[in-house]
Amino acid sequence: MSATTEMDFFIADFLGVNVLSRILSHQTAASLYYSAPGCTGLAAGSKLQRPLIAESKTMRPIMTSLAAWLLCFVAAAPATAQLPPPKDSLRPAPTGQSSAACSATDASSCAQAAAKILPQVMGPSPMEENLRRLTDEIGGRVTGSPEMAKAIDWSVAAFRAAGIEVHTETYTLPATWSEGDTKLTIVEPQGPPSSPAANGKTALTVETKSLRAVSEGWSPPTPQGGMVARVLDLGYGTEDDFRRSGTIKGAILLVHSDVGSTWADLFKEYLRPRDIIQKAIKAGAAAILWMSARERLLLYRHTNSLDGEIDKIPQAVVAREDALRLARTIAAYSGEVRLSLVMPNRIGGPIQQENVVGEIRGYEKPDEVVILGAHLDSWELGTGALDNGCNAAMVIEAARAIKATGLLPRRTIRFVLFSGEEQGTIGSYEYVKAHRAELDKVRAMIAFDAGIGRVTGYSLGGRRDIEAGVREVLKPLESWGANNHTYDASFRTDNFDFLLEGVPTLVANQEEANYLPNYHAASDTLDKVDIRELKLHTALAALTAWGIADRTETLGKRLSRSELDVLVKETGLDQQLKALGYGDAWQSGARGRKP
Ligand SMILES: [Zn+2]
Repeated sequence: MSATTEMDFFIADFLGVNVLSRILSHQTAASLYYSAPGCTGLAAGSKLQRPLIAESKTMRPIMTSLAAWLLCFVAAAPATAQLPPPKDSLRPAPTGQSSAACSATDASSCAQAAAKILPQVMGPSPMEENLRRLTDEIGGRVTGSPEMAKAIDWSVAAFRAAGIEVHTETYTLPATWSEGDTKLTIVEPQGPPSSPAANGKTALTVETKSLRAVSEGWSPPTPQGGMVARVLDLGYGTEDDFRRSGTIKGAILLVHSDVGSTWADLFKEYLRPRDIIQKAIKAGAAAILWMSARERLLLYRHTNSLDGEIDKIPQAVVAREDALRLARTIAAYSGEVRLSLVMPNRIGGPIQQENVVGEIRGYEKPDEVVILGAHLDSWELGTGALDNGCNAAMVIEAARAIKATGLLPRRTIRFVLFSGEEQGTIGSYEYVKAHRAELDKVRAMIAFDAGIGRVTGYSLGGRRDIEAGVREVLKPLESWGANNHTYDASFRTDNFDFLLEGVPTLVANQEEANYLPNYHAASDTLDKVDIRELKLHTALAALTAWGIADRTETLGKRLSRSELDVLVKETGLDQQLKALGYGDAWQSGARGRKP
Protein backbone atom coordinates (compact mmCIF):
# COMPACT_ATOMS: atom_id res chain seq x y z
CA MET A 1 0.00 0.00 0.00
CA SER A 2 1.40 3.36 -0.94
CA ALA A 3 1.95 6.06 1.64
CA THR A 4 -0.86 8.00 0.03
CA THR A 5 -3.43 5.28 0.33
CA GLU A 6 -2.25 4.71 3.84
CA MET A 7 -2.89 8.32 4.70
CA ASP A 8 -6.28 8.24 3.07
CA PHE A 9 -7.17 5.31 5.20
CA PHE A 10 -6.30 7.14 8.34
CA ILE A 11 -8.15 10.22 7.35
CA ALA A 12 -11.15 8.03 6.63
CA ASP A 13 -10.74 6.58 10.07
CA PHE A 14 -10.94 10.05 11.43
CA LEU A 15 -14.53 10.21 10.42
CA GLY A 16 -15.09 7.35 12.80
CA VAL A 17 -13.29 9.24 15.51
CA ASN A 18 -15.56 12.16 14.93
CA VAL A 19 -18.59 10.02 15.63
CA LEU A 20 -16.92 9.21 18.89
CA SER A 21 -16.13 12.81 19.45
CA ARG A 22 -19.79 13.70 19.37
CA ILE A 23 -20.04 11.77 22.56
CA LEU A 24 -16.77 12.99 24.00
CA SER A 25 -15.35 16.45 23.56
CA HIS A 26 -13.67 16.95 20.19
CA GLN A 27 -10.39 17.81 21.76
CA THR A 28 -10.18 14.89 24.04
CA ALA A 29 -11.19 12.51 21.31
CA ALA A 30 -8.42 13.84 19.15
CA SER A 31 -5.86 13.42 21.88
CA LEU A 32 -7.13 9.94 22.33
CA TYR A 33 -6.76 9.20 18.67
CA TYR A 34 -3.20 10.23 18.56
CA SER A 35 -2.31 8.46 21.70
CA ALA A 36 -4.18 5.25 21.36
CA PRO A 37 -1.27 2.82 20.96
CA GLY A 38 -0.98 1.31 24.37
CA CYS A 39 -2.43 4.46 25.89
CA THR A 40 1.05 5.81 26.25
CA GLY A 41 2.07 9.28 25.43
CA LEU A 42 -1.39 10.69 25.83
CA ALA A 43 -0.18 13.71 27.65
CA ALA A 44 2.33 14.24 24.93
CA GLY A 45 -0.13 13.73 22.09
CA SER A 46 1.49 16.37 19.98
CA LYS A 47 1.24 16.80 16.28
CA LEU A 48 4.79 15.62 16.03
CA GLN A 49 3.50 12.19 16.81
CA ARG A 50 0.85 12.30 14.17
CA PRO A 51 2.91 11.34 11.19
CA LEU A 52 4.47 8.52 13.12
CA ILE A 53 1.06 7.23 14.00
CA ALA A 54 -0.41 7.91 10.61
CA GLU A 55 2.34 5.98 8.93
CA SER A 56 2.15 3.07 11.30
CA LYS A 57 0.30 0.07 9.89
CA THR A 58 0.24 -1.55 13.28
CA MET A 59 -2.15 1.17 14.39
CA ARG A 60 -5.10 -0.10 12.45
CA PRO A 61 -6.10 -3.09 14.54
CA ILE A 62 -5.81 -1.00 17.64
CA MET A 63 -7.98 1.70 16.21
CA THR A 64 -10.71 -0.69 15.28
CA SER A 65 -11.29 -1.54 18.89
CA LEU A 66 -13.64 0.93 20.45
CA ALA A 67 -13.24 -0.80 23.79
CA ALA A 68 -9.55 -0.07 23.78
CA TRP A 69 -10.26 3.52 22.92
CA LEU A 70 -12.72 3.96 25.69
CA LEU A 71 -10.41 2.29 28.13
CA CYS A 72 -7.64 4.61 27.22
CA PHE A 73 -10.01 7.53 27.40
CA VAL A 74 -11.23 6.72 30.85
CA ALA A 75 -7.72 6.26 32.09
CA ALA A 76 -6.38 9.39 30.60
CA ALA A 77 -9.21 11.86 30.38
CA PRO A 78 -8.79 13.56 33.71
CA ALA A 79 -5.27 14.53 32.85
CA THR A 80 -6.04 15.95 29.45
CA ALA A 81 -9.61 17.15 29.39
CA GLN A 82 -9.92 20.74 28.13
CA LEU A 83 -6.21 20.98 27.49
CA PRO A 84 -4.50 21.19 24.15
CA PRO A 85 -1.92 18.46 23.87
CA PRO A 86 1.33 19.84 25.31
CA LYS A 87 4.24 20.03 22.92
CA ASP A 88 6.64 17.25 22.88
CA SER A 89 10.12 17.99 21.73
CA LEU A 90 10.90 14.98 19.65
CA ARG A 91 12.26 17.46 17.24
CA PRO A 92 13.01 20.97 18.36
CA ALA A 93 11.83 23.96 16.43
CA PRO A 94 14.49 25.05 13.93
CA THR A 95 15.05 28.33 15.71
CA GLY A 96 14.83 26.72 19.10
CA GLN A 97 12.20 29.27 20.07
CA SER A 98 9.08 28.12 21.73
CA SER A 99 7.68 31.50 20.75
CA ALA A 100 7.63 30.38 17.14
CA ALA A 101 4.15 29.06 17.63
CA CYS A 102 0.84 29.39 15.87
CA SER A 103 -0.50 31.34 18.79
CA ALA A 104 0.58 32.98 21.98
CA THR A 105 -1.15 30.55 24.30
CA ASP A 106 -0.32 27.32 22.58
CA ALA A 107 3.40 26.81 22.16
CA SER A 108 2.37 24.69 19.28
CA SER A 109 2.94 23.57 15.85
CA CYS A 110 3.89 26.35 13.48
CA ALA A 111 7.63 26.06 13.84
CA GLN A 112 7.47 22.29 13.54
CA ALA A 113 5.07 22.49 10.65
CA ALA A 114 7.32 24.98 8.87
CA ALA A 115 10.27 22.66 9.34
CA LYS A 116 8.31 19.87 7.69
CA ILE A 117 6.63 21.88 4.96
CA LEU A 118 9.76 23.65 3.73
CA PRO A 119 11.67 20.60 2.48
CA GLN A 120 8.49 19.35 0.79
CA VAL A 121 8.08 22.61 -1.07
CA MET A 122 11.67 23.52 -1.83
CA GLY A 123 12.67 20.07 -3.02
CA PRO A 124 11.63 18.40 -6.26
CA SER A 125 7.89 18.66 -6.74
CA PRO A 126 5.26 18.34 -9.45
CA MET A 127 4.40 22.05 -9.33
CA GLU A 128 6.48 23.26 -12.23
CA GLU A 129 5.28 20.53 -14.58
CA ASN A 130 1.70 21.09 -13.41
CA LEU A 131 2.03 24.76 -14.26
CA ARG A 132 3.59 24.03 -17.65
CA ARG A 133 0.66 21.84 -18.55
CA LEU A 134 -1.86 24.40 -17.41
CA THR A 135 -0.28 27.31 -19.28
CA ASP A 136 1.56 25.90 -22.29
CA GLU A 137 -0.77 23.02 -23.04
CA ILE A 138 -4.21 24.21 -21.94
CA GLY A 139 -3.36 27.87 -22.35
CA GLY A 140 -5.64 30.83 -21.70
CA ARG A 141 -8.86 29.68 -20.02
CA VAL A 142 -11.81 31.99 -20.14
CA THR A 143 -14.61 30.90 -17.86
CA GLY A 144 -17.22 29.11 -19.94
CA SER A 145 -14.73 28.03 -22.62
CA PRO A 146 -13.59 24.48 -23.50
CA GLU A 147 -10.14 25.42 -22.14
CA MET A 148 -11.69 26.19 -18.77
CA ALA A 149 -13.24 22.71 -18.71
CA LYS A 150 -9.78 21.26 -19.38
CA ALA A 151 -8.32 23.37 -16.59
CA ILE A 152 -10.92 21.99 -14.18
CA ASP A 153 -9.91 18.44 -15.16
CA TRP A 154 -6.26 19.43 -14.75
CA SER A 155 -6.80 20.65 -11.21
CA VAL A 156 -8.90 17.69 -10.12
CA ALA A 157 -6.17 15.37 -11.42
CA ALA A 158 -3.42 17.40 -9.75
CA PHE A 159 -5.20 17.37 -6.37
CA ARG A 160 -5.79 13.62 -6.67
CA ALA A 161 -2.17 12.99 -7.55
CA ALA A 162 -1.28 14.89 -4.39
CA GLY A 163 -3.51 12.58 -2.36
CA ILE A 164 -6.02 15.34 -1.64
CA GLU A 165 -9.76 14.68 -1.51
CA VAL A 166 -11.30 16.86 -4.19
CA HIS A 167 -14.67 17.68 -5.66
CA THR A 168 -16.17 20.39 -7.86
CA GLU A 169 -19.10 22.67 -7.09
CA THR A 170 -21.21 24.04 -9.90
CA TYR A 171 -22.92 27.36 -10.46
CA THR A 172 -24.47 29.11 -13.43
CA LEU A 173 -22.46 31.61 -15.41
CA PRO A 174 -24.96 33.99 -17.04
CA ALA A 175 -23.21 34.12 -20.42
CA THR A 176 -20.28 32.77 -22.38
CA TRP A 177 -18.15 35.02 -24.49
CA SER A 178 -15.37 34.78 -27.04
CA GLU A 179 -13.76 37.29 -29.33
CA GLY A 180 -14.26 37.18 -33.07
CA ASP A 181 -12.02 38.84 -35.64
CA THR A 182 -11.86 42.37 -34.28
CA LYS A 183 -11.01 45.07 -36.84
CA LEU A 184 -10.68 48.78 -36.27
CA THR A 185 -10.00 51.00 -39.27
CA ILE A 186 -9.91 54.71 -40.03
CA VAL A 187 -12.20 55.06 -43.03
CA GLU A 188 -12.40 58.86 -43.25
CA PRO A 189 -10.69 61.12 -43.99
CA GLN A 190 -9.19 59.30 -46.93
CA GLY A 191 -7.31 60.26 -50.01
CA PRO A 192 -4.06 59.81 -51.83
CA PRO A 193 -1.12 60.20 -49.49
CA SER A 194 0.22 63.73 -49.18
CA SER A 195 -2.22 65.32 -51.62
CA PRO A 196 -1.71 69.07 -51.45
CA ALA A 197 -4.11 71.45 -49.74
CA ALA A 198 -6.52 73.11 -52.19
CA ASN A 199 -8.18 76.49 -51.77
CA GLY A 200 -7.02 76.71 -48.20
CA LYS A 201 -9.09 73.67 -47.35
CA THR A 202 -7.27 70.77 -45.87
CA ALA A 203 -6.97 67.88 -48.26
CA LEU A 204 -7.62 64.47 -46.84
CA THR A 205 -4.42 62.59 -46.47
CA VAL A 206 -4.99 59.70 -44.13
CA GLU A 207 -4.61 56.30 -45.71
CA THR A 208 -7.01 53.57 -44.75
CA LYS A 209 -5.38 52.55 -41.58
CA SER A 210 -5.87 49.57 -39.39
CA LEU A 211 -5.49 50.21 -35.70
CA ARG A 212 -4.50 47.39 -33.40
CA ALA A 213 -7.33 46.64 -31.02
CA VAL A 214 -8.95 43.84 -29.03
CA SER A 215 -12.44 43.59 -27.68
CA GLU A 216 -13.04 44.11 -23.99
CA GLY A 217 -14.17 40.91 -22.31
CA TRP A 218 -17.94 40.38 -22.24
CA SER A 219 -18.40 43.27 -24.67
CA PRO A 220 -21.42 42.87 -26.93
CA PRO A 221 -20.61 42.38 -30.61
CA THR A 222 -21.01 45.23 -33.05
CA PRO A 223 -24.03 44.91 -35.35
CA GLN A 224 -23.72 42.45 -38.23
CA GLY A 225 -21.07 43.76 -40.63
CA GLY A 226 -19.69 46.16 -38.02
CA MET A 227 -20.34 49.85 -37.52
CA VAL A 228 -19.02 52.97 -39.18
CA ALA A 229 -19.25 56.09 -37.07
CA ARG A 230 -17.69 59.42 -36.29
CA VAL A 231 -15.03 59.22 -33.57
CA LEU A 232 -14.82 61.71 -30.79
CA ASP A 233 -11.85 62.28 -28.48
CA LEU A 234 -13.31 62.29 -24.99
CA GLY A 235 -10.03 63.01 -23.20
CA TYR A 236 -9.99 61.16 -19.89
CA GLY A 237 -13.75 61.04 -19.74
CA THR A 238 -14.06 63.43 -16.81
CA GLU A 239 -17.18 65.45 -16.06
CA ASP A 240 -15.62 68.40 -17.89
CA ASP A 241 -14.62 66.28 -20.85
CA PHE A 242 -18.23 65.17 -21.26
CA ARG A 243 -19.47 68.75 -21.01
CA ARG A 244 -17.04 69.98 -23.65
CA SER A 245 -17.30 67.02 -25.96
CA GLY A 246 -19.93 68.10 -28.45
CA THR A 247 -22.43 65.58 -29.78
CA ILE A 248 -21.84 62.12 -28.39
CA LYS A 249 -24.94 60.55 -29.88
CA GLY A 250 -23.98 57.96 -32.44
CA ALA A 251 -20.24 58.50 -31.97
CA ILE A 252 -17.42 56.13 -31.11
CA LEU A 253 -15.59 57.58 -28.10
CA LEU A 254 -11.85 57.46 -27.60
CA VAL A 255 -10.88 57.60 -23.90
CA HIS A 256 -7.29 58.37 -22.93
CA SER A 257 -5.22 56.76 -20.20
CA ASP A 258 -1.85 57.29 -18.58
CA VAL A 259 0.82 54.63 -18.67
CA GLY A 260 0.44 52.53 -15.53
CA SER A 261 3.18 50.81 -13.61
CA THR A 262 1.95 50.48 -10.02
CA TRP A 263 -0.87 48.75 -8.20
CA ALA A 264 -2.44 52.15 -7.61
CA ASP A 265 -2.44 52.80 -11.36
CA LEU A 266 -4.14 49.49 -11.98
CA PHE A 267 -6.80 50.21 -9.35
CA LYS A 268 -7.51 53.50 -11.04
CA GLU A 269 -7.82 51.75 -14.37
CA TYR A 270 -10.50 49.54 -12.86
CA LEU A 271 -12.38 52.21 -10.97
CA ARG A 272 -12.64 54.72 -13.83
CA PRO A 273 -14.68 53.04 -16.58
CA ARG A 274 -18.02 52.45 -14.92
CA ASP A 275 -18.92 56.09 -14.57
CA ILE A 276 -17.71 56.86 -18.10
CA ILE A 277 -19.69 53.96 -19.56
CA GLN A 278 -22.87 55.09 -17.83
CA LYS A 279 -22.52 58.63 -19.11
CA ALA A 280 -21.63 57.41 -22.60
CA ILE A 281 -24.69 55.17 -22.76
CA LYS A 282 -26.90 57.97 -21.49
CA ALA A 283 -25.57 60.28 -24.20
CA GLY A 284 -26.16 57.65 -26.89
CA ALA A 285 -22.57 56.73 -27.78
CA ALA A 286 -22.13 53.87 -30.26
CA ALA A 287 -18.97 52.34 -28.78
CA ILE A 288 -16.00 53.12 -26.52
CA LEU A 289 -12.31 52.72 -27.34
CA TRP A 290 -10.01 52.59 -24.33
CA MET A 291 -6.43 53.68 -24.93
CA SER A 292 -4.05 50.96 -23.72
CA ALA A 293 -2.22 52.00 -20.57
CA ARG A 294 0.86 50.15 -21.75
CA GLU A 295 3.38 51.04 -24.39
CA ARG A 296 4.93 49.09 -27.26
CA LEU A 297 1.63 48.09 -28.83
CA LEU A 298 0.80 45.74 -25.99
CA LEU A 299 -2.83 44.73 -25.94
CA TYR A 300 -4.67 43.26 -22.99
CA ARG A 301 -8.16 42.38 -22.05
CA HIS A 302 -10.21 43.49 -19.09
CA THR A 303 -13.93 43.48 -18.64
CA ASN A 304 -16.09 46.29 -17.40
CA SER A 305 -19.06 44.04 -16.80
CA LEU A 306 -18.71 42.72 -13.28
CA ASP A 307 -21.73 40.47 -12.99
CA GLY A 308 -21.11 37.99 -15.80
CA GLU A 309 -23.75 39.64 -17.99
CA ILE A 310 -22.85 40.95 -21.44
CA ASP A 311 -21.97 44.63 -21.23
CA LYS A 312 -24.28 47.27 -22.64
CA ILE A 313 -22.05 48.93 -25.20
CA PRO A 314 -19.29 47.61 -27.49
CA GLN A 315 -15.82 48.41 -26.14
CA ALA A 316 -12.29 47.73 -27.28
CA VAL A 317 -8.77 48.39 -26.04
CA VAL A 318 -6.62 50.14 -28.67
CA ALA A 319 -2.84 49.79 -28.72
CA ARG A 320 -1.45 52.89 -27.06
CA GLU A 321 0.63 54.10 -30.00
CA ASP A 322 -2.29 53.58 -32.40
CA ALA A 323 -4.70 55.33 -30.04
CA LEU A 324 -2.36 58.31 -29.73
CA ARG A 325 -2.07 58.46 -33.49
CA LEU A 326 -5.85 58.36 -33.73
CA ALA A 327 -6.08 61.21 -31.22
CA ARG A 328 -3.68 63.30 -33.29
CA THR A 329 -5.68 62.54 -36.41
CA ILE A 330 -8.90 63.58 -34.70
CA ALA A 331 -7.24 66.84 -33.65
CA ALA A 332 -6.06 67.49 -37.20
CA TYR A 333 -9.38 66.67 -38.87
CA SER A 334 -11.88 67.73 -36.26
CA GLY A 335 -15.27 66.22 -36.81
CA GLU A 336 -14.24 64.42 -39.97
CA VAL A 337 -12.71 61.22 -38.71
CA ARG A 338 -14.83 58.12 -39.09
CA LEU A 339 -13.97 54.65 -37.96
CA SER A 340 -15.08 51.23 -38.93
CA LEU A 341 -15.35 48.92 -35.93
CA VAL A 342 -16.03 45.26 -36.60
CA MET A 343 -16.25 43.16 -33.46
CA PRO A 344 -18.14 39.92 -34.11
CA ASN A 345 -17.94 38.60 -30.54
CA ARG A 346 -19.61 35.27 -29.96
CA ILE A 347 -22.09 35.14 -27.12
CA GLY A 348 -23.70 32.07 -25.58
CA GLY A 349 -24.94 30.65 -22.31
CA PRO A 350 -26.05 30.57 -19.57
CA ILE A 351 -23.80 27.66 -18.73
CA GLN A 352 -22.83 25.54 -15.72
CA GLN A 353 -19.33 26.25 -14.42
CA GLU A 354 -17.31 24.83 -11.56
CA ASN A 355 -15.11 25.74 -8.63
CA VAL A 356 -12.65 23.05 -7.54
CA VAL A 357 -12.44 22.26 -3.85
CA GLY A 358 -9.68 20.17 -2.27
CA GLU A 359 -9.76 19.43 1.42
CA ILE A 360 -7.68 18.24 4.35
CA ARG A 361 -10.07 17.59 7.18
CA GLY A 362 -9.31 18.89 10.63
CA TYR A 363 -8.94 16.36 13.41
CA GLU A 364 -10.55 18.37 16.15
CA LYS A 365 -12.92 20.88 14.58
CA PRO A 366 -13.58 19.54 11.10
CA ASP A 367 -16.53 21.85 10.59
CA GLU A 368 -14.34 24.91 11.10
CA VAL A 369 -12.61 25.84 7.89
CA VAL A 370 -9.67 27.84 6.63
CA ILE A 371 -9.75 28.50 2.90
CA LEU A 372 -6.66 28.93 0.78
CA GLY A 373 -7.80 30.09 -2.65
CA ALA A 374 -6.74 31.35 -6.04
CA HIS A 375 -8.55 31.70 -9.30
CA LEU A 376 -7.96 29.17 -12.01
CA ASP A 377 -9.50 31.04 -14.92
CA SER A 378 -7.66 33.61 -17.01
CA TRP A 379 -7.98 35.75 -20.09
CA GLU A 380 -6.72 34.14 -23.25
CA LEU A 381 -4.48 36.56 -25.13
CA GLY A 382 -1.64 35.00 -23.17
CA THR A 383 -1.69 31.77 -21.19
CA GLY A 384 -2.56 33.18 -17.77
CA ALA A 385 0.73 32.27 -16.11
CA LEU A 386 1.21 35.23 -13.74
CA ASP A 387 -2.54 35.82 -13.55
CA ASN A 388 -3.17 33.42 -12.04
CA GLY A 389 -1.90 30.05 -13.16
CA CYS A 390 1.14 30.25 -10.92
CA ASN A 391 -1.03 30.69 -7.84
CA ALA A 392 -3.49 28.01 -8.88
CA ALA A 393 -0.54 25.61 -9.13
CA MET A 394 0.72 27.02 -5.83
CA VAL A 395 -2.53 26.24 -3.99
CA ILE A 396 -2.41 22.64 -5.18
CA GLU A 397 1.25 22.45 -4.18
CA ALA A 398 0.50 23.85 -0.73
CA ALA A 399 -2.09 21.11 -0.28
CA ARG A 400 0.38 18.49 -1.49
CA ALA A 401 3.10 19.74 0.84
CA ILE A 402 0.88 19.80 3.93
CA LYS A 403 -0.46 16.36 3.10
CA ALA A 404 3.03 15.02 2.51
CA THR A 405 4.19 16.09 5.97
CA GLY A 406 1.68 13.67 7.45
CA LEU A 407 0.52 16.39 9.82
CA LEU A 408 -3.15 17.01 10.38
CA PRO A 409 -4.54 20.38 11.40
CA ARG A 410 -7.10 20.97 14.13
CA ARG A 411 -9.47 22.59 11.64
CA THR A 412 -10.22 21.74 8.06
CA ILE A 413 -8.17 23.39 5.33
CA ARG A 414 -9.94 23.86 2.03
CA PHE A 415 -7.97 24.55 -1.12
CA VAL A 416 -10.29 26.26 -3.54
CA LEU A 417 -9.66 27.09 -7.18
CA PHE A 418 -12.30 29.54 -8.29
CA SER A 419 -13.51 30.18 -11.81
CA GLY A 420 -15.25 33.31 -13.08
CA GLU A 421 -12.84 35.62 -11.26
CA GLU A 422 -12.03 37.65 -14.34
CA GLN A 423 -15.73 38.26 -14.96
CA GLY A 424 -16.18 39.84 -11.52
CA THR A 425 -15.25 37.20 -8.89
CA ILE A 426 -18.33 35.25 -9.90
CA GLY A 427 -17.08 31.83 -8.81
CA SER A 428 -16.19 32.98 -5.31
CA TYR A 429 -19.45 34.91 -5.02
CA GLU A 430 -21.32 31.74 -5.91
CA TYR A 431 -19.21 29.76 -3.43
CA VAL A 432 -20.08 32.21 -0.67
CA LYS A 433 -23.78 32.05 -1.55
CA ALA A 434 -23.75 28.25 -1.60
CA HIS A 435 -21.92 28.07 1.76
CA ARG A 436 -23.66 30.96 3.48
CA ALA A 437 -24.96 28.75 6.27
CA GLU A 438 -21.37 27.77 7.19
CA LEU A 439 -19.76 31.17 7.06
CA ASP A 440 -19.82 31.52 10.84
CA LYS A 441 -17.27 28.71 10.85
CA VAL A 442 -15.00 29.92 8.09
CA ARG A 443 -12.05 31.11 10.16
CA ALA A 444 -10.15 32.80 7.35
CA MET A 445 -9.98 33.12 3.61
CA ILE A 446 -6.47 33.48 2.19
CA ALA A 447 -6.02 34.54 -1.44
CA PHE A 448 -3.07 34.88 -3.78
CA ASP A 449 -3.61 36.75 -7.03
CA ALA A 450 -0.67 38.99 -7.85
CA GLY A 451 1.81 36.97 -9.84
CA ILE A 452 5.27 36.32 -8.64
CA GLY A 453 6.44 39.54 -6.93
CA ARG A 454 7.90 39.04 -3.48
CA VAL A 455 5.28 38.70 -0.74
CA THR A 456 5.65 41.39 1.90
CA GLY A 457 2.72 40.29 4.04
CA TYR A 458 -1.05 40.22 3.82
CA SER A 459 -3.73 42.78 3.31
CA LEU A 460 -5.99 42.03 6.26
CA GLY A 461 -9.17 43.56 4.88
CA GLY A 462 -9.54 46.23 7.56
CA ARG A 463 -9.05 43.72 10.40
CA ARG A 464 -6.53 44.96 12.94
CA ASP A 465 -7.85 42.34 15.33
CA ILE A 466 -6.37 39.47 13.32
CA GLU A 467 -2.89 40.88 12.89
CA ALA A 468 -1.37 39.43 16.05
CA GLY A 469 -2.59 35.96 15.15
CA VAL A 470 -1.23 36.17 11.63
CA ARG A 471 2.12 37.38 12.95
CA GLU A 472 2.33 34.44 15.34
CA VAL A 473 1.58 32.03 12.54
CA LEU A 474 4.31 33.41 10.29
CA LYS A 475 6.93 33.77 12.99
CA PRO A 476 8.91 30.72 11.88
CA LEU A 477 9.53 32.49 8.55
CA GLU A 478 10.09 35.90 10.12
CA SER A 479 13.41 36.38 8.32
CA TRP A 480 11.65 36.28 4.95
CA GLY A 481 10.28 39.79 5.47
CA ALA A 482 6.76 38.60 4.75
CA ASN A 483 5.27 39.42 8.11
CA ASN A 484 4.36 43.07 7.54
CA HIS A 485 0.65 43.40 7.10
CA THR A 486 -1.68 46.15 5.96
CA TYR A 487 -5.25 46.86 7.00
CA ASP A 488 -6.68 48.09 3.74
CA ALA A 489 -9.94 46.60 2.52
CA SER A 490 -10.42 46.61 -1.18
CA PHE A 491 -12.01 44.80 -4.04
CA ARG A 492 -9.07 42.73 -5.11
CA THR A 493 -9.93 39.20 -5.91
CA ASP A 494 -11.88 36.22 -4.61
CA ASN A 495 -11.62 37.42 -1.01
CA PHE A 496 -14.19 40.09 -1.83
CA ASP A 497 -17.43 38.37 -0.92
CA PHE A 498 -15.88 36.69 2.12
CA LEU A 499 -14.83 40.12 3.34
CA LEU A 500 -18.32 41.53 2.78
CA GLU A 501 -19.70 38.61 4.79
CA GLY A 502 -17.48 39.46 7.76
CA VAL A 503 -15.05 36.55 7.36
CA PRO A 504 -11.39 37.42 8.11
CA THR A 505 -9.59 37.65 4.78
CA LEU A 506 -5.88 37.72 3.95
CA VAL A 507 -4.73 38.72 0.49
CA ALA A 508 -1.03 38.42 -0.23
CA ASN A 509 0.58 41.83 -0.68
CA GLN A 510 3.19 41.43 -3.38
CA GLU A 511 5.69 43.64 -5.05
CA GLU A 512 4.73 44.56 -8.62
CA ALA A 513 7.73 42.74 -10.15
CA ASN A 514 6.80 41.84 -13.73
CA TYR A 515 3.07 41.59 -13.09
CA LEU A 516 1.71 44.82 -14.49
CA PRO A 517 3.53 44.90 -17.85
CA ASN A 518 2.16 41.43 -18.61
CA TYR A 519 -1.20 41.62 -16.88
CA HIS A 520 -4.03 40.18 -19.03
CA ALA A 521 -1.74 40.51 -22.04
CA ALA A 522 -0.38 38.19 -24.72
CA SER A 523 2.92 38.31 -22.87
CA ASP A 524 1.55 36.62 -19.71
CA THR A 525 3.32 33.33 -20.31
CA LEU A 526 5.17 30.73 -18.27
CA ASP A 527 8.60 32.26 -18.94
CA LYS A 528 7.56 35.16 -16.67
CA VAL A 529 7.19 32.89 -13.64
CA ASP A 530 10.10 32.67 -11.23
CA ILE A 531 9.68 29.14 -9.90
CA ARG A 532 11.94 29.63 -6.90
CA GLU A 533 9.92 32.62 -5.77
CA LEU A 534 6.74 30.61 -6.34
CA LYS A 535 8.09 27.91 -4.07
CA LEU A 536 8.74 30.45 -1.33
CA HIS A 537 5.18 31.70 -1.70
CA THR A 538 3.94 28.15 -1.49
CA ALA A 539 5.68 27.69 1.83
CA LEU A 540 4.23 30.97 3.12
CA ALA A 541 0.74 30.13 1.95
CA ALA A 542 0.89 26.61 3.34
CA LEU A 543 2.14 27.80 6.71
CA THR A 544 -0.46 30.55 6.87
CA ALA A 545 -3.28 28.13 6.18
CA TRP A 546 -1.81 25.53 8.50
CA GLY A 547 -1.23 27.94 11.36
CA ILE A 548 -4.68 29.50 11.28
CA ALA A 549 -6.22 26.06 11.04
CA ASP A 550 -4.15 24.62 13.86
CA ARG A 551 -3.94 27.37 16.47
CA THR A 552 -6.08 26.79 19.52
CA GLU A 553 -7.87 30.14 19.29
CA THR A 554 -9.80 31.28 16.27
CA LEU A 555 -8.00 33.95 14.27
CA GLY A 556 -10.83 36.43 14.57
CA LYS A 557 -14.57 36.46 14.76
CA ARG A 558 -17.01 36.90 11.92
CA LEU A 559 -18.08 40.53 11.92
CA SER A 560 -21.70 41.53 12.28
CA ARG A 561 -23.35 43.75 9.74
CA SER A 562 -23.01 46.82 11.97
CA GLU A 563 -19.32 46.10 12.50
CA LEU A 564 -18.93 45.71 8.76
CA ASP A 565 -20.68 49.02 8.17
CA VAL A 566 -18.01 50.69 10.31
CA LEU A 567 -15.17 48.79 8.59
CA VAL A 568 -16.42 49.59 5.11
CA LYS A 569 -16.58 53.27 5.95
CA GLU A 570 -13.26 53.44 7.80
CA THR A 571 -11.35 51.76 5.01
CA GLY A 572 -12.98 53.71 2.20
CA LEU A 573 -14.32 50.48 0.78
CA ASP A 574 -17.73 52.16 0.54
CA GLN A 575 -16.41 54.50 -2.14
CA GLN A 576 -14.92 51.60 -4.06
CA LEU A 577 -18.15 49.66 -3.87
CA LYS A 578 -19.95 52.64 -5.31
CA ALA A 579 -17.40 53.16 -8.09
CA LEU A 580 -17.64 49.51 -9.07
CA GLY A 581 -21.41 49.46 -9.01
CA TYR A 582 -21.84 47.32 -5.90
CA GLY A 583 -23.04 50.21 -3.72
CA ASP A 584 -26.76 49.49 -3.87
CA ALA A 585 -26.35 45.73 -3.57
CA TRP A 586 -24.24 46.23 -0.44
CA GLN A 587 -26.66 48.72 1.09
CA SER A 588 -29.65 46.48 0.51
CA GLY A 589 -27.87 43.35 1.69
CA ALA A 590 -28.23 41.69 -1.71
CA ARG A 591 -24.45 41.32 -1.61
CA GLY A 592 -22.55 40.88 1.63
CA ARG A 593 -23.82 40.27 5.13
CA LYS A 594 -27.51 41.01 5.51
CA PRO A 595 -28.34 44.12 7.55
ZN1 LIG B 1 -6.09 37.47 -11.17
